[in-house]
Amino acid sequence: MASMAERSAKGGRAPSRRRPRADAGSRKQAVLSLHNTLTGSKEPFAPLEPGPVKIYTCGPTVYRHAHIGNLRTYLIADWLRRLLETSGYRVRHVKNITDVGHMRQEMLERGEDKVIAAALAEGKTPSEIARFYTTAFLEDEKKLNILPAHVFPRASETVEEMVEMTRTLVEKEFAYESGGNVYFAVDSFPEYGKLSGQVISGLEEGGRVQADPLKRDQRDFALWKAAEPGRALVWPSPWGDGFPGWHIECSAMAAKHLGPRIDIHTGGVDNIFPHHEDEIAQSEAAFGHRHVNYWLHGQHLLVDGVKMAKSSGNTYTLSNLEARGFELLAFRYLCATVHYRARMNFTFASLRAAQLALCRLRLKLSEPGGRVTKTARAEGERQRRRFWAAAADDLNLPRALAIVWQVGRSRLPTPIKRELLMDFDRLLGLDLVQPARQPKLPQDIQRMVRERAHLRQASDYPPADEIREKVISQDMEVRDTRSGTVVVPVPEWARRQEAISTSGDVESLLDGTPDLDFTIGVVAHQGCKEMERCVSSVQRWLGSQRAEIIVVDNGFNDDCGHHLDHVAEDDPKVRVFHADHFLGSAAGRNVCLRQARGRYVLLIDTSVEATGDVFSRLRPLLDDATIGVVGRWGVMTHDIRSFDEATGTGDVDAVEGYMMAFRREILREIGLLDEKYRFYRHMDLDFSFAVRSRGYRAVVDTELPLKRHRHVDWEETPPEERERLSKRNFYRFLHKWGDRKDLIISARP
Ligand code: AMP
Ligand code: ZN
Repeated sequence: MASMAERSAKGGRAPSRRRPRADAGSRKQAVLSLHNTLTGSKEPFAPLEPGPVKIYTCGPTVYRHAHIGNLRTYLIADWLRRLLETSGYRVRHVKNITDVGHMRQEMLERGEDKVIAAALAEGKTPSEIARFYTTAFLEDEKKLNILPAHVFPRASETVEEMVEMTRTLVEKEFAYESGGNVYFAVDSFPEYGKLSGQVISGLEEGGRVQADPLKRDQRDFALWKAAEPGRALVWPSPWGDGFPGWHIECSAMAAKHLGPRIDIHTGGVDNIFPHHEDEIAQSEAAFGHRHVNYWLHGQHLLVDGVKMAKSSGNTYTLSNLEARGFELLAFRYLCATVHYRARMNFTFASLRAAQLALCRLRLKLSEPGGRVTKTARAEGERQRRRFWAAAADDLNLPRALAIVWQVGRSRLPTPIKRELLMDFDRLLGLDLVQPARQPKLPQDIQRMVRERAHLRQASDYPPADEIREKVISQDMEVRDTRSGTVVVPVPEWARRQEAISTSGDVESLLDGTPDLDFTIGVVAHQGCKEMERCVSSVQRWLGSQRAEIIVVDNGFNDDCGHHLDHVAEDDPKVRVFHADHFLGSAAGRNVCLRQARGRYVLLIDTSVEATGDVFSRLRPLLDDATIGVVGRWGVMTHDIRSFDEATGTGDVDAVEGYMMAFRREILREIGLLDEKYRFYRHMDLDFSFAVRSRGYRAVVDTELPLKRHRHVDWEETPPEERERLSKRNFYRFLHKWGDRKDLIISARP
C-alpha cells in the first residue's frame, strides 16, 4: 500500500520556484490558459498560493479493468500535469481509488457485474478484487506513460474522514439524519447548481425513479447510508453501521491530501452532475469558502458514435489493443489528435493511422544529419515557441502535434529535430526519441538476407530479387538504404490493414449488374464452430449454382478470424471480410449486401444449417414479383408490439432473420439494413416491414430444408444485457412502425 502512496513522479523534475524556469526557453512567455467549467470560459491560470499546484483527479472504480474511455480522461489529467511541470510549476497530484467500500450489495446480488460476481463466486473477497484491479490500473497507466499521481488515496482508508465531514455538515445544519441515512439538504446551499446549471437529474425529473421516503426533498443526496443486511463492508458511525455516499469520498480525500483549497479538479464530463456539483456543495458548506479554483472536464470517448461504457457493451481495454498488435502509445498519440474538450470517436482505422504516424515520426529522427547553422537554430527556436504556445492555450495538443509534424518534415538538421522533439516529448510522453531497436530476426531470414547481400554485391539481381520476395512473404519488410538493407518484421497491426472499420469501407456493387445467381451472406461475431457448421452446410448444398458465400468476421476476438482465411483459401466461392471490431449486427450484414454480386441474396444466421438444396426451392419464390422477402421462419402480430411465431407456409407479417432471402434489386428500393440495430433483435422485422411498406409480400416456406441450432449471440449475451439491448431495439422498431397497423395481415378487411 505504502509503495503506491506518495510515489514521486518519473523523472522527478521539480523546480523549486513557481516562476517559470529560466531554462524553459519560450515557456517563459507562455501564459497558461484553461477552460474552467465553473465559469464556462477560458481563463489565465494562476496558482492559489505558494508551493505546489494542487490537482485532484477523480480516479477509477476498481472492480473491473479501466476501458480506454476512462484512460482518455486520465491521459488528459496527465497532459495537464505535464504542462504545468514543463511550464516551471511544481505539482502535487492526487488521484483517488474508489475501491469496494462502495460496491452496492444489491447490484452484486442481481449479478449485474459479471466480473465481480464471478470473483466473489471464486471465493475472492471484495478487498482482493479491489487490490487486483488497482494493480491492473496502475500498470495500464504506466503503459500509457501516465505519470503516477503523488498520492493514490483509497476510499476505504478514508472513511473516518468522510464520517467526520458528514458530522460537520450535520452540525452546521447542511445535512440531516433520516432512518440511519444522512442526506445533504440541497436547499441549505443556495449556490447548488453553479457548476452544472442542474439541480436534479433528468431521470428523477421524469418521475421514473421511485421517490425516497427518507429524503425531505427529492433533490437531497446521501452522504451516509445505513448498511443493508448481508453487506460485507460496513463502518461504524454516529448514525449506525453503514457506508459513505460516493460524492463525499472525493470531498474527504481531496481535503485530506490537498487541504481545503485546490487549484484544479479534473474528471470526465459525466462527473459534472451530480458528482462534482455535490462535491462543491459538501466541501464549500463544510469549509465555508470556495473549494476548487478550476474545474477541467474531458469529453467522452465514443465508439460508433456511442459513449464507451460498460453498460453499452462497447468497451475496449488496453489488452484488446495489445492483442491486435498495437503499441499502446499509439492510443496516447490518437488521443492527442483530438482536443480534450471534443468528443473523440474511436475506430481501429484511426488507431492504425495513429500507429503509422508515430512510427513515421520516430523514423524522421533516424534520417542522416545535416549541418547545424545559426539560421537552423533560429528556425528551431521559432518552432519551439509555437509548440509551447499551442500547448499553453487550453492544452491544444492537436495544434501542438501539427507543429511536431512541421518540424519532423522540415529540412532542419536531425540534431536540432531531435533536440526539439525531446523537448516536446516532455509534454507529449510519446517516446518520440527512442534508441534504435533491432528486433531479432529468425535464423532462416538472417541467412537469406546474408545470401541476398552477396548476390547484390555480385550484381546478380534476379536471384537476389527472388530471395527478397521470399523474405517479404514471411511478413517482413525489406528496405534497401544507402547504408545497407534493413529487414524488420511487419507488425501485426499493419498486417491487419485490410480489416474494415465500417460497412462503408467496402465498395457497394449494388449499381452493377449481378453476375452470379446467389450471394449467401453469413455474419459471425462469436461461435467459431457455429459459423463453420453453417458455412460448410451451405457449401455442401450449393451444388453447381453460380454463387458466392460472403463471410463477415464481425470482430471475432479469438482465432476464428484466421481460421476463416483457411476456409476461403480452400474454396474460391468464399470471400471473407474482417472487421476490426464488432460493427453491429446490421452493419455486419450490410457488408454482405454491399458486396453482393448475386441476383438473389440469402442472409443466414450461424445458428442455421442447410440440410438440403435450399436454393432450387427458393428460386421460384424469389422470381415471384409480388414477394419481397422469403424465410423459413416468420412471425404474426396483432398490435405491432407482440409477435407470435407463424405456423404454416404462406404470408406472414415478418420474416425472421435466421434466414432471409430476397432479390438483390429490391435493395435499391428499400435501402440496406438500418445500422442503428447493433443487436440483432427486431432488425429483421424492421427489414420485413420496410419491404412490406413498399407493397411486397413476406412469405414463409416451411419446407425449406433448414435446421435451427443454438443461437450463440443470444446465449452468450448475459440476461440483463440482452434484455436491455432487446428493449432498445424494440422501442426503435415501435417508433418507426408502431402506427402502421395497415401493414399487418390480421387487420385486413
Ligand atoms: P468510472 O470508473 O466509471 O468512475 O470512470 C472513471 C473516469 O472515466 C471518470 O472520470 C469518467 O468521467 C471517465 N469516463 C467514463 N466513461 C468515459 C468515456 N466513454 N470517455 C471518457 N471518459 C470516460
Ligand atoms: Zn470524484
